[in-house]
Amino acid sequence: MIIILKPDITEEQIQHIEERIKKLGLKPVLSKGIERSLIGVIGEEDKLRITPLEAIEGVEKVMAVLKPYKLASRDFKKESSVVKIKDVQVGGKSLAVMAGPCSVESIELLSEVGHLVKEAGANILRGGAFKPRTSPYSFQGLGEEGLKYLQEVGAKEGLPVVTEVMNIRQIPIVDKYADAFQVGARNMQNFDLLKELGKTKKPVVLKRGMSATIKDLLMSAEYILSEGNMSVILCERGIRTFEDATRNTLDLSAVAVIKQLSHLPVIVDPSHGTGKWSLVGPMSLAAIAAGCDGLMIEVHTNPEEALSDGSQSLKPEKFEELMKMIKKVAESVGRSI
Ligand code: PEP
Ligand code: MN
Repeated sequence: MIIILKPDITEEQIQHIEERIKKLGLKPVLSKGIERSLIGVIGEEDKLRITPLEAIEGVEKVMAVLKPYKLASRDFKKESSVVKIKDVQVGGKSLAVMAGPCSVESIELLSEVGHLVKEAGANILRGGAFKPRTSPYSFQGLGEEGLKYLQEVGAKEGLPVVTEVMNIRQIPIVDKYADAFQVGARNMQNFDLLKELGKTKKPVVLKRGMSATIKDLLMSAEYILSEGNMSVILCERGIRTFEDATRNTLDLSAVAVIKQLSHLPVIVDPSHGTGKWSLVGPMSLAAIAAGCDGLMIEVHTNPEEALSDGSQSLKPEKFEELMKMIKKVAESVGRSI
């Protein structure tokens, strides 16, 4: 249920409405818009149907939200959201480019890649310290040591850092070193993890599960939002289909679909989306043309010897070339980087 407020509503009137909702055992979430503000009501909506909220001063209209996701929906917030990772905006006119190695392998690798991606124009550093590998025998990440390297290189280069958190136990330690949490495709429906991240204050990059629909992705975002953390960035990273020419099928239409359905920023990961470095460039440009708010790109100085995802990692010089093209396409669609 969404309560649309009159443009001239006072703070006291808003508080009064919020208290009425809480008394019914429901949760009010205020969304301040440019033209008008709304209160989204979370919980068993039936309780509201018998309450004449329209009789309260300051209320313009009460609307049922038919979609199963409420706070993530554009019905709840008309203007597109801008999420800030430290001082980098994700959403709005500028594009966020998150770049770095798949895994943090060593301080040497991260320092070099961090420096080169920054030089090329990336504005956020990525790198996994806890790696969700298909095989338990594959490199699992450096853990806390990797987080320390991320913090160190991020600070040196002036880049905020984003890194994956795989379970609830890891939240405090990732929170200590990173500027944003990443929820990987394999954990998109780890609802306990999502709920706990909803209680934190840092932005969450939520990656689409490989077999998840767009609706599933938005429902997962709803878990984070409904706990109070409104800083959610959605990430299209490819889904499983019958097509085997690429590692996954990058669903670029998801960008345009999500933009219609939700106010949340959307980024695209063409590295996992294709699995092939030679396809990362074209898909990055297409993603920007499709209206995404940013990209997540894997970069490695020596992909041949990378401990994970070498075949989809760009060499720094290729990334630099791509950034030049990215700037041109961004400009042509009214965006900047
Ligand atoms: C990653 O970003 O390195 C990663 C593991 O991504 P995904 O969860 O999309 O597979
Ligand atoms: Mn990877």
